[in-house]
Amino acid sequence: MAKRYADIIIDILHQDLDKTFQYIIPEMLQDKIAIGTSVEVPFGKGNKLIKGFVINISNKPQIDPSKLKEIHKSSNEKVNIESQLIQLALWMSNQYSSTIISALKTVLPIHQKIKHKEEKRIHLVIDDTKCKELIESAKKKNHVAILRLMETLKEKSNLDYTYVTKNLKIPLATLKKLELNQIIEIISKENYRKPHNFNKNQSYTQPTIFQQKIIDEVVSDYYSEKFKTYLLHGVTGSGKTEVYMRIIEEVLNSGRQAIVLIPEISLTHQTVKRFYERFGEKVGVIHSKLSQGERYDQYVQAKNGAIQIMVGPRSALFAPFENLGIIIIDEEHETTYKSDTTPKYHSKEVAIKRAEISNASVVLGSATPSMESYTEALEGNYKLLELKERIDNRPLPTVSIVDMREELIQGNKSMLSESLRSSILDRLNKKEQIILFINRRGYSRFVSCRECGFVIKCDHCDVAFTYHNNGKLICHYCGKNISMPSTCPSCKSKYIKQFGTGTQKVEEYIQKEFPRARILRMDTDTTSKKDSYEQILTKFGDGRADILIGTQMVAKGHDFPNVTLVGVLAADLSLYMNDYRSSERTFSLLTQVAGRAGRGAIKGDVIIQTYSPEHFSIQNARMQDYNNFYNEEISYRRIMNYPPFTNIMVILLISEDENLVIKTSYELVNLIKNMLDSTNCDIIGPTPASISKMNNLFRQVIYIKAEEYNRLLEIKKKIEIINVENNKYNNMAMQFDFNPLFS
Ligand code: ADP
Ligand code: ZN
Ligand code: ZN
Repeated sequence: MAKRYADIIIDILHQDLDKTFQYIIPEMLQDKIAIGTSVEVPFGKGNKLIKGFVINISNKPQIDPSKLKEIHKSSNEKVNIESQLIQLALWMSNQYSSTIISALKTVLPIHQKIKHKEEKRIHLVIDDTKCKELIESAKKKNHVAILRLMETLKEKSNLDYTYVTKNLKIPLATLKKLELNQIIEIISKENYRKPHNFNKNQSYTQPTIFQQKIIDEVVSDYYSEKFKTYLLHGVTGSGKTEVYMRIIEEVLNSGRQAIVLIPEISLTHQTVKRFYERFGEKVGVIHSKLSQGERYDQYVQAKNGAIQIMVGPRSALFAPFENLGIIIIDEEHETTYKSDTTPKYHSKEVAIKRAEISNASVVLGSATPSMESYTEALEGNYKLLELKERIDNRPLPTVSIVDMREELIQGNKSMLSESLRSSILDRLNKKEQIILFINRRGYSRFVSCRECGFVIKCDHCDVAFTYHNNGKLICHYCGKNISMPSTCPSCKSKYIKQFGTGTQKVEEYIQKEFPRARILRMDTDTTSKKDSYEQILTKFGDGRADILIGTQMVAKGHDFPNVTLVGVLAADLSLYMNDYRSSERTFSLLTQVAGRAGRGAIKGDVIIQTYSPEHFSIQNARMQDYNNFYNEEISYRRIMNYPPFTNIMVILLISEDENLVIKTSYELVNLIKNMLDSTNCDIIGPTPASISKMNNLFRQVIYIKAEEYNRLLEIKKKIEIINVENNKYNNMAMQFDFNPLFS
């Protein structure tokens, strides 16, 4: 038998992942070694045996085989967590066509040890009477140190070690003696950095019969080991989170762990809080605003069993749980679940794969499921669970649409319609709360000339500058900034002005209109600090403000019972994006934001201002009719051959030479056409990318549609082989993305 060789990654937590080492697979281990197997190998000069994982197997030695060592041993035990995660990474690298290393880095992000802080405390272990006796005898014997310590401990029962040695100045010998005589105990505890400060709260809500039915269904499948993917379609305020928590409780009771994915940690502060309140210290969080130390501590605690529920955005998917029982994906329709860095994975797909590896279930939840997920559910690939009623039968809010063109005709040029203005006033008088939602996209403030229409764009990038309040124009793609010109660079007219409205401007306007209202604003400007979301949301939740103005961030997940009015300032701004998902996005955003109203005892109202009241996504959002929206949208997708009926691969070519990138993109299209069986593929393009120039680099795109996902992977591999063989695309970058989501 030909010799085989294995590429091995050494002890994941301590080694730099970029390096793998090749070993010979000995005869007797031939059948036992596979990708993902955990092995022991001799390492370094002393040939110390250390653990590693096989990530690749080949017939070719990379160096003189006589210099290679043999694998010592392979484990027979069930795959442990690292190899589960390596298996997942290998799948990802194949599915999203990335390098193994970049997939491994995504899945096993922490490989450097960071010191723990240790906390030592001194506890009194004798009872009160004994303590008093000791104090008396210390007084008699003039043992001042013992006296000092005992009198303090009598009050406090336990003390910080450093406080005792530094402030009370108790000698170490005295402490030793007291410990030996079992008067005090010195307890040291690894003090893990805690990223959040929530407290456990014992109050439990009783599930409704609708919630209970769903809980029972998932739990009974779970116990009979019918692990499945579920889609929980529940209207806003129907109590989905309670359902998740009950299911998780069962999973923990069975000795397994849970992952809860949320779209963005900062937007769902409340969800995290609710999990902490229910499960206390068993809850961990992983997200980008944690320090490296905090993140490491979370990871270690997940591995050693202290943490059993990991909550967080995408990266929480890779929590090192050995016995994962369930993955929940809340608000599964959100585009943030798709990674924007390589590997460009979709969390839902990876979750389903991870669940398969560890025999776990997956629950996807949403009030507005993605077209893809709902279609899977209708086709029976996911089990559909529905919550059609809000908790306590609270009515969904009444949604009304205001046609802003009418307002204009009536002579109202302000950003508030008469109806929204009077409703705001009404709620302020009643001391109820209001959320005003601004669609971020339309509100980037570009500068243009009212005379000739010239738009000031960055000369490195094909995008308009954004106006900032300090009078600077900034390019959000390359960071270049210039001062606001006083005349039009094109026609020299002085009517050059910023357009669009920022949240800040809306805030100023609303404050002027309603001088006594207490206003909070939540957008990227006001939330740059680590805990600013928390502060704003807590303040609003406590009733210390009347109006919350914000972008997408205020639309999602929050539960403020006193909010009875939600105003959407301009609903259509996400409709006319150059993107086949814009209707879906508009519908789901409006439904989500409307869902913030009337969550308490009083019914809520939603007012949507729009320039296209007849559009079906706005009409369906008004009726809050998901099924009707789905039916209209799915037939459009079918006719246009868009996902979920097809898969799309995007090829992005980037070069500093504009002619070259255009020429190459046409050549590439011809090449693909020649190698394809054109019956099962569609090629669109090449065309300039939606941002055709960024940082002085020119960008062309090609879209390839195929019903079979694997077909796209094949095409990609062929292109790469041609690329390597002819050195054809040396002067340009080529990037691939599968089923892109434009956020
Ligand atoms: P969703 O996630 O579906 O929007 P939530 O889980 O936020 O809904 O629930 C909406 C509100 O109803 C929350 O305030 C929650 O505490 C409350 N709630 C959920 N389940 C129950 C229940 N069984 N009994 C009473 N209140 C509940
Ligand atoms: Zn730029
Ligand atoms: Zn001009």
